[in-house]
Amino acid sequence: MDMNALYKLTHGLYVLGASDNGKMVGSIVDAVMQVANKPMAIALSCTNTSYTKECIDRTGEFSLSVLCKDIPPFIVANFGYQSSRTTDKWSAVKHYINNGLPYLQDNLAVFRCKVLHSYKLESNTLFVAEVTDAVDNKSGEPLTYLDYRSYFRQEVMTSFQNFQKENKTMAEESGKKWVCTVCGYVYDGDIPFEDLPDDYVCPLCGVGKDLFELQ
Ligand code: FE
Repeated sequence: MDMNALYKLTHGLYVLGASDNGKMVGSIVDAVMQVANKPMAIALSCTNTSYTKECIDRTGEFSLSVLCKDIPPFIVANFGYQSSRTTDKWSAVKHYINNGLPYLQDNLAVFRCKVLHSYKLESNTLFVAEVTDAVDNKSGEPLTYLDYRSYFRQEVMTSFQNFQKENKTMAEESGKKWVCTVCGYVYDGDIPFEDLPDDYVCPLCGVGKDLFELQ
């Protein structure tokens, strides 16, 4: 199968928002389209490993913020390159909360959606959802997945590297250490903790990097 053929199906890029018992979670999604007008419905596909997807499974509700072509690249890095399991993504960006769901302040349009059906595939879950509210906020060209692939990705990656560097400097200046939240092991290796491979485990109790905290 020629995977390049699939890139010729066009998508936008959106910030998806959901709530986990009042904690705001979110991610970047591209597979969104209107599929009916009675009821007004859209389809959304999320990967099954996504924490935001798990929250939508539980609550049956989500928000979408439509991104403009001129958004700062960090918005995409913030929502796309981290997990809401370990990061409060919304606190890093200007946003507002309406009736329990988070929305990006800088948007072209926003939607609130209620899940009608979900279909589980091996890699993804497809939600068909009713649009219960839609607001057209400003004119402008929506950012597409093609924009990301053709020119935006490098800017997004650079913004994320700068963000990580700043965080590291702040951590160093504050004298904080990465500590295993399970057994209390304090990381003191020469390689900065952030640069350790994803499969790094605590040498004492064996849990992964995601269970370490800066303390
Ligand atoms: Fe440990």
